[in-house]
Amino acid sequence: MSKVIGHKKQLDFFSKIILNKKIPHAFLFSGEDKIGKKTFAFHLAKLILCENNACDKCKTCLDIDKRMSPDVCLIESENGNIEIDKIRALKEFLLLKSYSNKKKIAIINDAHLMRTDAQNSILKLLEEPPENSVLILITNFKEMILETIKSRVQSVSFNKVKTEEIEEYLVSEGVENKLAKEISFFAGGKIGKAIELLEDEGQRDFFAETMKYLEGIERQPFDKRFEYVKEIYEDKEATLEILNIFERFFRRIMFLKLYGKEDVNFKSYSLLKIRNIIEEIQKTKYYFVNTNTNKKLLLENLMINI
Ligand SMILES: [Zn+2]
Repeated sequence: MSKVIGHKKQLDFFSKIILNKKIPHAFLFSGEDKIGKKTFAFHLAKLILCENNACDKCKTCLDIDKRMSPDVCLIESENGNIEIDKIRALKEFLLLKSYSNKKKIAIINDAHLMRTDAQNSILKLLEEPPENSVLILITNFKEMILETIKSRVQSVSFNKVKTEEIEEYLVSEGVENKLAKEISFFAGGKIGKAIELLEDEGQRDFFAETMKYLEGIERQPFDKRFEYVKEIYEDKEATLEILNIFERFFRRIMFLKLYGKEDVNFKSYSLLKIRNIIEEIQKTKYYFVNTNTNKKLLLENLMINI
């Protein structure tokens, strides 16, 4: 995906920088995972290299999208670590003359996965930045980046994307309104999560099935709910994902109730009851992950409380 969704404040900030032709030589993009930081970094590369304000149509932009631009380099971790060798290669890359006669841009995703030696190597680079180079560090754990690095880069923090912006984007991609609403709410501000759901049929079906189950749970007797538990509890990962969907689902019901936009379902549930359900789900998630409590009993207990 190559389009920036949301992040208007950051877009304005960079438009000004580009307009004034005063581009700092290094940035640190921080914020939660899956909110579009890497996509934004590639967009910035286009803003810098494209002759026509990141037009998304010219060869420069298309090459950047295909990760084939000779002036843009992306470094990512392998097995949860970014080796110092990669940083050395990145330095060589930045020292080469720009192909487009503009700038060389290096993006390091998950920059916190650089160990101290690699981070020190980056620090040296920041002390003497190669001419016409731009370095973009991306992280969702800013506290793991050396202070000495942070003091030498332009910090840009990113927030979650608004639910309505995600919904609007999904609709513009041809997603049917109801599903777009559900996915965007479930994504909880994480555009990357919404796109995963959109692109992965398996995940989407799983999500749709769980949602369907939830919509009918109000009228379901306990024995049927226990049958559902029996079907899911052995797959730990899937069950956790289901609990996440449960939590988002009830948060949405609470949100609708608070704003008087009553959902057709759960009319008989008071606001207090819904809040208790959300707390029960959170508790269940905690015990499910952190203790050896009998998982089936844990889920059955939750089902009694819904
Ligand atoms: Zn372009």
